[in-house]
Formats: sequence, structure tokens, C-alpha cells
Amino acid sequence: MTTYVYSFGNGAADGDATQAELLGGKGANLAEMAQLGLPVPAGFTLSTDCCNDFLSSGGNYPGELREQVQSALAAVEGIMGMKFGDPENPLLVSCRSGARQSMPGMMETVLNVGLCPATIPGLIKKTGNERFVYDAYRRLIMMYADVVMEKAEGIEPIDGMGIRSQLDRIMEDLKEEKNYISDTDIPAEDLKNLCDTFKKTVREVLGVDFPDKPEDQLWGAIGAVFKSWNGRRAISYRRIEGIPDQWGTACTVQSMVFGNMGATSATGVAFTRNPANGENRFYGEWLPDAQGEDVVAGTRTPNPLNNDTKNEQNAHLPSLEEEMPKVYAQLYEIRNNLEKHYRDMLDIEFTIQEERLYMLQCRVGKRTGPAALNMAMDMLEEKMITEKECVMRVKPSQLDELLHPIVDPAHEKTSTVIAKGLPAGPGGAFGQIVFTAQDAVDWHKSGKQVILVREETNPEDVEGMRAAEGILTARGGMTSHAALVARGWGKCCIVGAAMIKLDFKAKEMRIGGKVYKEGDVVTLNGSKGLVYEGALKMVDATENPRFKAFMTIVDRYRTMGVRTNADSPQDTLVSLEYGAEGIGLFRTEHMFYGGDSEEPLFLLRKMILSDTEDERRQALEELFPFMKRDIQATLETMDGMPVTIRLLDPPLHEFVPHGRSHQEELAKALDIDIDDVVRRGEELQESNPMMGHRGVRLGITYPEITEMQVRAILEAAAELIRQGKNPLPEIMVPVTCDVKELIFAKAITDRVYADILKTFSLDAIDYKYGTMIEIPRAALLADKMAECADFFSFGTNDLTQMTFGFSRDDTGGFMADYLDRGIIEADPFQTIDQDGVGQLIQYSVERGRKTRPDLKIGICGEQGGDPASVAFCYANNLTYVSCSPFRIPIARLSAAQAALKAEAGK
Ligand code: ADP
Ligand code: MG
Ligand code: MG
Repeated sequence: MTTYVYSFGNGAADGDATQAELLGGKGANLAEMAQLGLPVPAGFTLSTDCCNDFLSSGGNYPGELREQVQSALAAVEGIMGMKFGDPENPLLVSCRSGARQSMPGMMETVLNVGLCPATIPGLIKKTGNERFVYDAYRRLIMMYADVVMEKAEGIEPIDGMGIRSQLDRIMEDLKEEKNYISDTDIPAEDLKNLCDTFKKTVREVLGVDFPDKPEDQLWGAIGAVFKSWNGRRAISYRRIEGIPDQWGTACTVQSMVFGNMGATSATGVAFTRNPANGENRFYGEWLPDAQGEDVVAGTRTPNPLNNDTKNEQNAHLPSLEEEMPKVYAQLYEIRNNLEKHYRDMLDIEFTIQEERLYMLQCRVGKRTGPAALNMAMDMLEEKMITEKECVMRVKPSQLDELLHPIVDPAHEKTSTVIAKGLPAGPGGAFGQIVFTAQDAVDWHKSGKQVILVREETNPEDVEGMRAAEGILTARGGMTSHAALVARGWGKCCIVGAAMIKLDFKAKEMRIGGKVYKEGDVVTLNGSKGLVYEGALKMVDATENPRFKAFMTIVDRYRTMGVRTNADSPQDTLVSLEYGAEGIGLFRTEHMFYGGDSEEPLFLLRKMILSDTEDERRQALEELFPFMKRDIQATLETMDGMPVTIRLLDPPLHEFVPHGRSHQEELAKALDIDIDDVVRRGEELQESNPMMGHRGVRLGITYPEITEMQVRAILEAAAELIRQGKNPLPEIMVPVTCDVKELIFAKAITDRVYADILKTFSLDAIDYKYGTMIEIPRAALLADKMAECADFFSFGTNDLTQMTFGFSRDDTGGFMADYLDRGIIEADPFQTIDQDGVGQLIQYSVERGRKTRPDLKIGICGEQGGDPASVAFCYANNLTYVSCSPFRIPIARLSAAQAALKAEAGK
């Protein structure tokens, strides 16, 4: 027989905190608290297995369940001295959802189950509090009708016409009519009538009677809790958080305790430490004469728990510390004990029934990035946790938050959100809005701080995006151009804020009824996707000296290397600050874009449009000094650390000039007709340039291109050696599919190398020769490729593109659908597709190292800064990961955590 039901109460429990998988976080921790002897109302938990059986059988409970529930309920009745459904002494219960991982507010809970015409008189008699009983009943009707009778039945009412809203309106009307300010002002008689009206409305709206049998209510509520696992909110939350659909929710049935029995009763939530900044102070809110959901619902402003929790909004309200000092003292002691026991910050729910305290929930509390860091370091100092635990306490994504200025959470609390979108780029930013990339650049140059607002961005907007403090788009998803670019730079960005209507001609945007003109100031919270009017206060979290201290500890447990992808001296410097141990990808073509690119770009174009080898050699000769200068600057900055320099990668036609004036200039330089320039450019057009004449293929056709680049690299190094420096260049050949390509380019390299040693009278230059693995064929032939490579670097962008056959630049049209329909779990351009691309990586690591055991292997795609991908790289024995400068700390932490997890055998 399968056990589906696990009891707790009276200082004992069938389960404990380690069983979240089976009992859900809520059920597991209630069991743990019961075992600790804390005042937990007795109850029992139906397992997640039960939920899964129920859902997969189309809504049938497993055969043995009824009996198990009967006997668990009988045990609860014994402990509580009450009976469920008993007319004299009725026990009421709550039915509470709870998954393995908390999904706040995403699933359903029903309170006061068991209250009905048959049990109401008994409860009134017993408590002598008619108002309380009808208050509980109206709550039951509201929750039950909404959760069980509407949502669980799959009824999708039009906006604002859901049963819950209709009942809410009836209650609001009553309050208005009779001038009751707060819910607690409504007297018993009115509540009683309200319950009748509610039941009539339920019948009218939903076409069925509100169930009057406690037994029916109980099973209805259990089923609805289970079904809420597949509610719309829950599903979309799981998509975002990457929670598997198969987990299911548990359902905890627990005796009710009542915070709504008058002034000596209350309900509240608290954090054992401040979840916003990590301060070691008890932090919480409570409401007298209320039931649980009131605190979060925001219908009444909650009171502060204690002095530490007072703020502008609640300072006038009495704290629990002042109002019920004894209960507060007891709660404070529980807080200390729980922290000691769990060795972490906890989020707790409690209820006070006529001055008696009950614990209703505890779980490890969610916290902001800064709070996570502070708590980890505090608890380490308090000797509550070890160094290893400290490293595990900060999530890589929280570190991300820490690396950017953020909107001051206190200021946010008092500001109104004007628009919402997807949190695409972290941190906060404020500035004057502009509507074109050019304006962003110009305004920025004149010293202004701007937010670039676009319908969507495209590669032409890049300069403007760079110049802006933050980016806001009305369309696009988490993988849109704006999102990708912003994340890579660590720039604050919100995408898909659909409520924004743009008018480019008028240079203004409309949100709701309000118009914002060019120059108006807005603030973005890119970590949450929230837009505010005006300039909110910012706090810079990196100034926290604890960040550095924490990263030092992190590095003690990290074994895999972390390098950076950097193309410019600025990027290189930033990366060193963030702890890069080398460059994993230096793209030589960087010098042909942006800023000072005019001259080298002209020379490159000249080279591209050359017709003969002579012409080409001459152009290359002129290009050479630029190439060498850039490479040398980077090798010098990274002195003593490896720098992987990739040979020219993109298809040449990308650089072909289209403007008339550029064409003329080139015609003159090449001493040919302008028509020839145009013709030669056209000849370079390809129908599928991603797979066209690019990368190593250029050097096969024009060996002199390879030669010039290798010379630039090795000469740059030779000169630095002469200056007493220690350059460590690594020449990386891109877009290879066969070892013969490598051999071909190696022959050129060897020749140039010998030549340079002679010219500079050197014995050796410590350089490496290797290749990018980015074409599946190269991965499959890794053993062969390794014969002519000191290192591999997985170019996971292209490798993903070629393995899936998804054009990286064209996924916009279908990626969202693939994710929505669950065809793929995550965007493979953000996190390595371990099933497919991962197999190629694993296979090539094994094969490559068979040929050459000391083969250095890294990864240099976008995914190098993604925590899951870093863990994957660690598991596959990669030598290092390489990522954009801003993501280095995240990669360092992810790598350390992967090592610690492996050590712990998880
Ligand atoms: P959520 O997961 O949304 O927080 P909960 O199951 O925790 O849902 O319940 C919602 C509210 O009802 C909480 O404030 C909780 O403390 C309260 N509550 C749940 N069960 C009981 C109970 N048996 N007695 C009193 N209050 C309860
Ligand atoms: Mg809760
Ligand atoms: Mg590539």
C-alpha cells in the first residue's frame, strides 16, 4: 500500500524538513516545526505523489486515499479535541498548497473548510462570538467559490467578472452604504446577511449551490489545491523559474486557528532577518483581528512587528512588541531557535488566537542579492555556517543583481509603477527618454543621461544602446535583440512593455492616459521589469567591501578557470577588475567596428576588393600595423595571462561598402572604376553567409590573410618579450571542420614563427595553436582535430546554431512558441542544450583528450556566463569558461558552487 498521507502535530510528525520533494516545502517544514515542539496546529499532508496520481488519472483520487485521510483526520480530531463536521464542537481546517520549491501566490489555499449551516450554531455557541463565525464563513464562501467552484472547474470569466471580484464588490458596496471603513467594522448581523447574499450570487453566477456538507467541502478543496498546480499562473511561473511540470504540489490539511476572533487575535508574517538588506534584525508585519490572507492582500495596511520594522506608512500603528509583549517575546525566541536550527534566514507565518501563538509556516526566505551577500558573510562571522556554506548561500543570479547599481528598494516602495515589462537586463537606471539611437548618442555626448525607448531594437541601434543608461522596448521577449545585447553588457533593460504606445513622429510615448515626451525622466528596474516616473534613488552594491571578501572565499573553492571575452582595451580592464584569468576570446574584427574603425576598415575593404594577390598583399601590409597594435595592447594589459586571439571570422561581404562616397574612395585607392568596386562587392554576395566564405576558409583561399594575422600576433608578442614582458598568445582558428584545415594554417604559422624568431633573435615565443569547435563535424572528429591543436574552444553560439539548424539571428519568429509549447525547455543560445549540443561537447572532450591528454579546453559562447552552463562545463572537465566581463563573478561563483556540489556528491 502506498502511503499518501503524513501526519504532524503534538510534538511529533511522520516527515521532516528534508522531505520537501514528497511533502512540499510547506508540509515538510510544518512537520519539522512540529518535531521541534513548536506550537503548530495539528494536521496532515497529502503527498505530491498523490497529486500526480490525481492529475494523471483525470481527477480521481487513489483508492486507498479516503481511508488514510479518515484516520489522519481522526488523529487530528483527537489532538484538537474537536470533530470535523460536528454540530456541537466543529473542527475547521485549511487546505493548503505547497510545492517542493516555493511558488509564492501561484497556487491556492482554502481556509475555514467545514463551516456550514450545520456547524455554525455550534461554533457560535462555543466561541460566543457570532461576528467571528460569520466573518469566517464569508471568507470561506469567497475563497471556495473562487478556487474550487470557478478556477478548478476551468471556468474563465471575463476580466473583472470572476466570482471573487463580484463578491468583493458586494462587500465593498455594503461597506460604502453603511459607512464601514474597514472589514473589521462590519457587525455580525450584516456579515450574516452578506453570507446569504454571497450564496445566492454563487448560485446565480456559477449555476450550482454552495456545498453545505463539510465532507464535500474538504474533498472539493483538496482537489482544487491539486488542480491549482496546473493553473495558468502556476504554469507560467514554472516556465520562468524552470520548475519541471512533473513535481506536483502537496496538499496540507491543517486545523484552523483564528486570528479573527477580536482584538487579542492576530495574524502576521515575518523574516528572521531583513530580506531587503540582510540586516540581522527581526522584520515583519501583523494585523490584529484578521485571517492570514489579509496581510498579503493589502486591503489593510499591516502594523509593524517591532520598532525595527517601522517605516513612514506604518509608524503610526502599534507594533506587536508594544501591543502583546509576551507573545512577541515568545515569537522572538522561536525566531532565534528556528534560525539556529535551520542555520539560515527564514520567512515565517504565524497566527495569534486570543493571545496564544501558533506557527503556520516557515521556509528559507527569499532575499535580494545584497541581502544574500550580507547574510552569508554575517552568518559566517557568527559561526552559524561554514565557508563552504557561505559560498553556496549566494545564487549566481543574485550576484548579478549586486554588480549593477540598483533602484533603492525603499524608494521603490513609495513610488508607483507606470509600466511593466520583462526583466531583460539587470540593475536600475534612470534618465531622460529618447526615441532614436542617434538621439541617445547625441544626448549622451552632451553629457545627458538617457533611457532609449524603442519599439524593438536592431543591430543598428547598438551605438545608441551603448550610450543609454537603460533600454526600454515595447515589444520583444527575453531573447530579443535588446535583451541579448543588454544582458551581455550588464545593462539595465526592460523589453516587451506592451502598454507603452510609441509615437516616433511626435517623439513621445503614451502609457494609459498619460503622455511622456522626449526628455521626460523615467526610472527602470531591470531586475524586475518595472518602470517608474521620475528619477528614483540608486544604490551601488559593488561598493560593498564584502563583495570582494566574498569573492576571495569563492575562489578558494573554485578549480575551473574563468576567462573573459574581450575585444577592446576597456573591456579588458573591466574584466581584470572582475577577476578574469585570461582572455578566452579576442575577436580581431573588433577593430573594424565602431569608434576609431575608419582607417582599418578602409584598408580591410581595400583588401577584400582586391583582385590579385599583389593587390591583396599590399592592402594587408597596410592593415598589419593596426592589427598588431590592437593585439599588442591587449597582450600587454593581460601580461602573464593567456589571450586567445581568433583569426578573422566573419564573411567578408559584411564589410563591403555600400555608400557611394565609400565606393568612390575605394575606386580611387585601388585605381579602378567605381563600377568595378560595385561589381566586385556584388560578387561577394552569398545566399547563406553564416555558412559561407568565412573563418578558416578565407585563409585557405587567401593564405596571405592568415599569414598577416599570425605575423601580427607573433610580432606583437616578440616585441613585448623584448621589453621584458610575458605575453601568452593563443592563436585560434575559427569555423574549422577538418584537421587538414588546421594543418594548412599551421604550416603558415610555423613559417612565420621561424621567421620572427630569427628577426628578433629569440629562442622561443610561448604561444599555443588551437581551434574553435563550432561545427558539428569538427566535434565528431575531435580526436583528429586534436592532432594539430594545443587547445579547443567551444564556440557554443555557432555550435548551437549548426546543431539545431536554428539561425541565431532568426529565432525571433519561433523561439517563444517552442518555449511556450514546451518543445524545448530553455533557449539554447542562453543556456547550453545539454541533451544535444552537450553531447557533442562531451564527446569531443573525451576524444580530444584521448589524442592529447593535456589538451586545454574552454568555451567562449554566450553561455559561458550562464550558471547552468558553467556547471555543465565543470562536469565535463573543461579547463576554463570564458564570458563577457560583467558575468565573470557569476561564472566564478557558479564554478565554485559546481565544485562544492560535486564534492558533496550531489
Ligand atoms: P500561501 O502559500 O499562498 O502563503 P498558505 O497555505 O500559507 O498560502 O495560506 C494562506 C494564509 O492562510 C497564510 O497567511 C496562512 O498563514 C493562513 N493559514 C493557512 N492555514 C491556516 C490555518 N490552519 N489556520 C490559520 N491560518 C491559516
Ligand atoms: Mg504561506
Ligand atoms: Mg563562430
